[in-house]
Amino acid sequence: MIEDPYLGKYVTCVSARSTDKEILKKAQDGGIATTLMVYALEEGIIDGTIVAGEGDKPWQPKPEVAMTREDILKARGTRYSISPQISWLKEATRSFGLDKVGITGVCCQMQAVRKAQLYPINMRDVPGKVAFTVGLFCMENFPYKSMQSIVEDHAAQSLGSVKKMEITKGKFWVYTERGNVATVPLKETHKYEQPGCHVCLDYVSNLADISTGSVGSPDGWSTVFIRTKVGNEIWSKAVAAGLFETKPIEEVKPGLDLLRKLAKEKIDKNQKTVEERKTFGVNKGLRNPYA
Ligand SMILES: Cc1cc2nc3c(=O)[nH]c(=O)nc-3n(C[C@H](O)[C@H](O)[C@H](O)COP(=O)(O)OP(=O)(O)OC[C@H]3O[C@@H](n4cnc5c(N)ncnc54)[C@H](O)[C@@H]3O)c2cc1C
Ligand code: SF4
Repeated sequence: MIEDPYLGKYVTCVSARSTDKEILKKAQDGGIATTLMVYALEEGIIDGTIVAGEGDKPWQPKPEVAMTREDILKARGTRYSISPQISWLKEATRSFGLDKVGITGVCCQMQAVRKAQLYPINMRDVPGKVAFTVGLFCMENFPYKSMQSIVEDHAAQSLGSVKKMEITKGKFWVYTERGNVATVPLKETHKYEQPGCHVCLDYVSNLADISTGSVGSPDGWSTVFIRTKVGNEIWSKAVAAGLFETKPIEEVKPGLDLLRKLAKEKIDKNQKTVEERKTFGVNKGLRNPYA
């Protein structure tokens, strides 16, 4: 077990991509999140999973309890807007009747799941029914209107025509269905970030069973951390079943060095914000959830 101060605890880290061509067609990166949940469903490891499905407006995510491969596939692609995944956690064990719940989401949502498992407050049945969590790397998120301003005003694209969005190499990238590409420098997007993200001290979903993201691996591939016993068992079986192509992360560029550098930047910057809250007022401060 490796215990990295910025990348969390993990057993192994690899660069990987799905071997399922259909999943890869619309996956954000290597299709890891989708392939793992489909595999877990087909193997009976989970009987349903919370995903960020299609919402009512273009590119607005809507949390959903997916119980078929088809519904899991509908959640492919990153939606850079808040999707309150955990709002369905208890309900998944009630009207949906699930015994083995899967959950996908960003770092803070993995934290919520673990907290509910250890300190279930009005969360009866939840601790024992969480079966598998897949966490995404996350630098920051945006309220829907913010994302709309970035795409429609700064990138000058209509949301309805967008095929993919990506934050990489210092820019917010917008790709349209008809082949146009627009970029916005990240310094223009900072003011639109969700303020709550500025106290977040987790970049690579430290508390998930398996976590995945794009940084560190080439386009079309993902960086994957296998963290827990549950994660390790599922990953080993899935690789043995031929579901993923993998490469040791040490053989991949830019690899863990860049990832660790970005994780450190996020944590150092946000730790400073947490500190500043202590002396925010005159002789008084703001609450610290980590105190
Ligand atoms: C807000 C946000 C910020 C991110 N920032 C970074 C970053 O800084 N660096 C980095 O390397 N990676 C980041 N990622 C992760 C990256 O964009 C991909 O989501 C990840 O690599 C998974 O790709 P995939 O091909 O395996 O997923 P796919 O197989 O395409 O599946 C997509 C998965 O993402 C989930 N999802 C989509 N939108 C949301 C959402 N808004 N909230 C919760 N879950 C969602 C779906 O439920 C699904 O499980 C971010 C993701 C999000 C949602
Ligand atoms: S930056 Fe942190 S708090 Fe904000 S969405 Fe990402 S994981 Fe959640």
